[in-house]
Amino acid sequence: MGRKIIVVGGGASGMCAAIYAARNGADVTIIEKNTQLGKKLSMTGNGRCNLSNLDMSEKMYNPAAENRMKQWLSVYGVLDVINFFKSLGIIIKSEDGYLYPISGQASTVVSAFENELKRLGVNIIFGEQVKSIEENKEEHIYKVVTSKNYYFADRVIVAIGSLSGAKSTMSTGDGYYICQKLGMTIKDTHPALVGFKCEEGEILPEAGVRSTAEVSFYLGNEELAKEYGELQLTKDGISGIPVMQASSKIIKFVEEKKPITVSINFFADYDEDDYLSLCKEMLQLRDDRTLEEFLNGFHNSYINDLIIRKMKMGRSMKMKNISESMVMSIFDSYRNFKLKLSDSYGYQASQVTAGGVSLGNIRDDMTVKDHDGLFVVGELLDVDGRCGGYNLQWAWTSGSIAGTVASL
Ligand SMILES: Cc1cc2nc3c(=O)[nH]c(=O)nc-3n(C[C@H](O)[C@H](O)[C@H](O)COP(=O)(O)OP(=O)(O)OC[C@H]3O[C@@H](n4cnc5c(N)ncnc54)[C@H](O)[C@@H]3O)c2cc1C
Repeated sequence: MGRKIIVVGGGASGMCAAIYAARNGADVTIIEKNTQLGKKLSMTGNGRCNLSNLDMSEKMYNPAAENRMKQWLSVYGVLDVINFFKSLGIIIKSEDGYLYPISGQASTVVSAFENELKRLGVNIIFGEQVKSIEENKEEHIYKVVTSKNYYFADRVIVAIGSLSGAKSTMSTGDGYYICQKLGMTIKDTHPALVGFKCEEGEILPEAGVRSTAEVSFYLGNEELAKEYGELQLTKDGISGIPVMQASSKIIKFVEEKKPITVSINFFADYDEDDYLSLCKEMLQLRDDRTLEEFLNGFHNSYINDLIIRKMKMGRSMKMKNISESMVMSIFDSYRNFKLKLSDSYGYQASQVTAGGVSLGNIRDDMTVKDHDGLFVVGELLDVDGRCGGYNLQWAWTSGSIAGTVASL
């Protein structure tokens, strides 16, 4: 029998690490506190699992991780992911570079992992929460203490994840405490890839509305982030791809209760001149129709409604009674719809956690400095990527490296 390895956490990075280690002949046990493997993985990509991206580079990760990611992605990149999934019987398809299982079902990815772990004879212990990890340096052995038991291993891979995800994912951030007790430095955490609540009294729709838009975030006059994509406006805030992509750059200010203003451009596909020509053409249509009738077809009716309310106009006002300059201000509002943020939707609504175990604690082979035989992988580390498959890529990259090295 090969090395005795315990993997703490049966999520994306832990299952990946376990497979690589077991394929190399190690005797692997996963300890998972939930009653199933890959609970969060099964929810990824709206149930479709966006597992990587052909447009891969270290620039897609937080600045503190960029340099290290370059090295790690050169060891295990997108092609390695595609081949790994092929070896599990999962065919990958690309949608504009975003990679998904061809089944379109995250559940098939979880099943493929389960089948492979079973085939390799990996032992899985469910329903035990790991509380601490102790190293016996003289005997080169680790003791893993759980809520019910304790276990010994030559090597331990900590793949416990973060604070992000719905309650059912059991993402309670246990890893930060466990790693801190082992002497590792933990960088402050924040929810990332998350939406934001708006200040009370802001004009928002009664129900959710989606629209492509360019969304810019400001602290005073300073632009903190600008993103384009499908924006979601809800009755108390904003989310969707452009907001999530910007979130890591603004979360700190929102948590510090700094006044963050959002400017939404619902006509981002038009440049300044094209939009002006469009507005001038529209102006020709001013007659005895109402404002609501006039705007019908100009944009989504719910967006039109927001603009009318923002401008404090009556929807049944006759266009001939609204001055040309006022109509132009209405059009301007579609390019600069302002909202003020009050808070984020928090960890349970976030896709990843920024911060965590500082990369200064970790060697390139994912081992922990001063703890030979101990590995930390996945989101528990201070690595967070943009939306688009980058966080799962990190789970596969870090998991595969740790699983391989641990088995040697
Ligand atoms: C709704 C949602 C959608 C997402 N969609 C995408 C996407 O499409 N593409 C993408 O790249 N990323 C996506 N992500 C992010 C991605 O899922 C995570 O980055 C990834 O799962 C992290 O892998 P991990 O192994 O580090 O942690 P996890 O997958 O969270 O696994 C950690 C495991 O450890 C277990 N555990 C925790 N504490 C203990 C303990 N004390 N003892 C024992 N076990 C423990 C947990 O139960 C869990 O099974 C999404 C996240 C969410 C919440």
